[in-house]
Amino acid sequence: MYSIKEYVIATTLEEAYNLNQKKTNRIIAGNMWLRLGNANIVNAIDLSKLGLNKIEENDEEFQLGCMVSLRQMELDEKLNDYTKNALRDCVKDIVGTQFRNSATVGGSIWGRFGFSDVLTCMLAMDTEVELYKAGRISLADFVNMKPDNDILVKVIIKKNDGKANYQALRNAATDFPVIACCAVKKSDGWSFSIGAKPTKAVRYTASLEDIQNNMDGTLDDILEKITFGTNTRASKEYRKAMAKVLLKRAIKNIETDGQEV
Ligand SMILES: Cc1cc2nc3c(=O)[nH]c(=O)nc-3n(C[C@H](O)[C@H](O)[C@H](O)COP(=O)(O)OP(=O)(O)OC[C@H]3O[C@@H](n4cnc5c(N)ncnc54)[C@H](O)[C@@H]3O)c2cc1C
Repeated sequence: MYSIKEYVIATTLEEAYNLNQKKTNRIIAGNMWLRLGNANIVNAIDLSKLGLNKIEENDEEFQLGCMVSLRQMELDEKLNDYTKNALRDCVKDIVGTQFRNSATVGGSIWGRFGFSDVLTCMLAMDTEVELYKAGRISLADFVNMKPDNDILVKVIIKKNDGKANYQALRNAATDFPVIACCAVKKSDGWSFSIGAKPTKAVRYTASLEDIQNNMDGTLDDILEKITFGTNTRASKEYRKAMAKVLLKRAIKNIETDGQEV
């Protein structure tokens, strides 16, 4: 069980950042993951009054404040129109509606969890994160950074001409995924992410021609580079085989505008 000595509702990001420099203090977002740990927290730093619970759109991008809940992502029409429902599809099986009303996009991305549907989905897109001190960096770089004491302020999905499709396989509805994949097709090529392997998601790209002329061979080459693992949910061999099935399904869904599979 975790314990919290003081609960601080931050009034500015600077205040939250300064408090977060102490190892014994912790940012608290949806508190769905944090509450399952054993930390002895001196100051829990609540970001909920900083106006970071909005999804905003401009000509170039969607900006999701770190306190946007998974349920907001699931229901936001413009975001889902734009991502062809990939964001809705990646969160819809996470535990239940009440849970998704609390868990946040900031906590999901900050956690860099191996099982994360959210990270897997966003990694295939042109996604950046805005950190309070370090500024904007690509999600692909952020994934490989060690967690530090910065604050994730926003997640930014850049607009391009892409079409996305998200696929995940679960042993039972609402369990963690056994394997998860996202495909995005743009005019200059494909990007793919493969997560829940069970370690955290990775991203690969392929040309339009390679997928059109040799889909199986191209996907096999990508999957050969990935280290799949075995745990109680699935073996590495099963994960690898299913990753190919899900990637092909995602590609076919994109090519047929969701009509074929
Ligand atoms: C039982 C259970 C099942 C789940 N199943 C799935 C699943 O199937 N698929 C899936 O994708 N996810 C799943 N998750 C993860 C969940 O969706 C969230 O990602 C997770 O709860 C973290 O989000 P949160 O808002 O609750 O963060 P919290 O628990 O509040 O915080 C998590 C960590 O991130 C830090 N943090 C949070 N926000 C920030 C920020 N803005 N800047 C810096 N640090 C920050 C906190 O200090 C803490 O260390 C599951 C979680 C649980 C508990």
